Amino acid sequence: MAKKQFKAESRRLLEMMVNSIYTNREIFLRELISNASDALDKRYFEGLTDKSKNASKKDLWIKITPNKDARTLVIEDTGIGMTDKELESNLGTIARSGSAEFREALEKNTSKIDIIGQFGVGFYSAFMVAKKVTVDSRPAGGDKAYRWVSSGEDGYTISEIEKDTVGTTITLELKDDTEDEKFGEFLEEWTIRNLIKKYSDYVRYPIKMDVKKSIPDPTEEGKTIDTMEEETLNSMVPLWKKNKNKISDEDYNEFYKSTFSDWENPQRHLHYNVEGNVSYTALLYIPGKTPFNFYNTDYESGLRLYSKGVFILDNAKDLLPECYRFVKGLVDSDDLNLNISREILQQDRQVKALSKSIDKKITGMLEDMLEKEREEYEKFYENFGLNLKYSIYKSYGALKEKLQDFLLYRSSKDGSYTTLKEYVSRMKEDQKEIYYACGSTIDDIEKLPVLSKVRNKGYEILYFTDSIDEFVIRMMMNYDEKPFRSVTEAGLDLDTEEEKKARETTAEENKDMLEAMKNALGENVSEVRISSRLTDDPVCLVADQGMSIEMEKVLSQDPMNRGLKATKILEINPNHPIFAKLQDVFRTQPDALNDYADILYDQARLIEGLPIEDPAEYARRIVDLMVNAALPKKDDSPVEAEIVE
Ligand code: ADP
Repeated sequence: MAKKQFKAESRRLLEMMVNSIYTNREIFLRELISNASDALDKRYFEGLTDKSKNASKKDLWIKITPNKDARTLVIEDTGIGMTDKELESNLGTIARSGSAEFREALEKNTSKIDIIGQFGVGFYSAFMVAKKVTVDSRPAGGDKAYRWVSSGEDGYTISEIEKDTVGTTITLELKDDTEDEKFGEFLEEWTIRNLIKKYSDYVRYPIKMDVKKSIPDPTEEGKTIDTMEEETLNSMVPLWKKNKNKISDEDYNEFYKSTFSDWENPQRHLHYNVEGNVSYTALLYIPGKTPFNFYNTDYESGLRLYSKGVFILDNAKDLLPECYRFVKGLVDSDDLNLNISREILQQDRQVKALSKSIDKKITGMLEDMLEKEREEYEKFYENFGLNLKYSIYKSYGALKEKLQDFLLYRSSKDGSYTTLKEYVSRMKEDQKEIYYACGSTIDDIEKLPVLSKVRNKGYEILYFTDSIDEFVIRMMMNYDEKPFRSVTEAGLDLDTEEEKKARETTAEENKDMLEAMKNALGENVSEVRISSRLTDDPVCLVADQGMSIEMEKVLSQDPMNRGLKATKILEINPNHPIFAKLQDVFRTQPDALNDYADILYDQARLIEGLPIEDPAEYARRIVDLMVNAALPKKDDSPVEAEIVE
């Protein structure tokens, strides 16, 4: 029989599994049972509409058979089964994760545990405990059956076999050393019992096992004999249908991890029941960290939908608003039609009511967290805050009211996060606007020359470090009727009447010089003017109305952008020694002013984190200046002066 090779990624994953010294190998059982349970769901569901696949509830089960002598563990289900093609495509490649991200993760050499957790390796986890895996399967609606066999990395074979019953039987030939520290040997009855209780108790089909029972010996009074008796190991009550008081945090966490293939515990859960227009039970989770592919197009959001405990759909997007797409969970409603399809879902009135109610609950949960558990909320925000911002932006501000109070920013007050509400509550009486500054890191922002004036006024400044931040507040326009104002915006006006007058006078007196500089810079700037916002630094660039400099930076990374640029104004600090120097140059050798203007403009760009057009030319000019300039005399230095005294 010809051996087939696994696809490249699958082989690497298998390699990892085979050589695993992974401490949680017992999850293989949960993974296989979860696959079996899915297969049973499919059989039941498809059987509702397709007679050839019909199965009554009592014929749907899972059975586990350990054999200590042969060191095999058999997991049998009466689910939908697989054709030879399906065996090939489902087990020959990584189903859930045969995607670019997985390759990336492998290449980045992320830790193994992370990979196992992030991708929920499913079926392949069998190779953590088995040296050989045999899958016998007969699909519902067909009469042929097939066998898939693999000993791991070196490939697999598929052949036709005889099998009387529909479903899948997986036989694991266990490795020699499967003694588990915590759970014991996987072939022991009590180990299996414990694992099922822990990981698969809620599976809605019986997980059966033949167990040894001692019964009174009918032939001899007072004696017992051992017989084998089939027992169902799981309670079959779905977790979400159990009484909340009877569910421990660990139960919730285990359920989350096994159902939504996450390695980490969720940050929190919300389990509730609604009676009314639509009655439903929901079990919702906020993941403990941002999923690996959360911002990729292949991330599937949505909730799992059940009707009266029967699985209907996975990733039902219409149940979950986009802004909360990080929520994982399920909804079980008695009011929904079992035959509901993805297409109908969109228009269904009940579904709309459902999703509205879920939306409210999540909003409430976040509000609660923000109010009562700030630290937890900040942790949540670090994971998913960006999605809230995107949502405001993408909705063109329509979601502003709903989400604005969930936003957090670092600010000049101290290193901690602040909400907009908190910011506004601290605003000084004369402060009319909400100030912000952009940069890629807080450090970068704090070095911006333009910050000082606003700070000196005692106004707090929000630090925008996400490239989307400024786009978001452009959509929001204002908060609590207070407009947002960038500290690098041309319109920023913090001066008193007196200061304004003084500035106008200086501008008037230096009109010709400023104009000459503007001419030297040509189209690069719309104006060169006297600054009111600089205290210590010589120059800065500010943006005229419209696009900001930060936005220009963001857009310049977009390949579709056709050179959109902010309209820039070069501001000069009249109190800086450079100003007197410029006046001097303008008076005595006006031609040299061009060089000064160019250098100052380039410097302003560099401070802003913008590239300069001709770095070589810039360097040449600086060197020229250095060569021509007289170095400051020794006794100019204040340190020396002190010593002299
Ligand atoms: P996942 O369950 O995440 O899709 P797996 O690697 O565990 O990934 O399984 C791959 C696929 O193989 C499943 O999606 C399913 O189609 C199929 N499969 C696995 N186990 C069974 C089973 N017991 N019965 C029917 N199909 C199965």
